[in-house]
Amino acid sequence: MGTRPFRWFPHDGQRHAVADSLAVGDIGETLCERPVTVPHDAPSKAEWCWPTCAACDSAWRLHEGILPFPRPSMTRGHTARSSLRVVVRA
Ligand SMILES: [Zn+2]
Repeated sequence: MGTRPFRWFPHDGQRHAVADSLAVGDIGETLCERPVTVPHDAPSKAEWCWPTCAACDSAWRLHEGILPFPRPSMTRGHTARSSLRVVVRA
């Protein structure tokens, strides 16, 4: 959609998150601070099946939580959080 600040980026056996502004050939770093170069080839289907990097995932969530312009169509985050708590208690 292009409205999010990050995108997923398969690298070194895990799906990391990088800034969405990174273009092919750019050198940047993942949200868990690994240096990466954006390759010319699109990631393969197998690479998209790699496990999500937990550090990138939590960093992304943190960033999404402090977005300066929350969109009116977004549902509130409280529902997801309380259902998480139920799962933990069960
Ligand atoms: Zn990562």
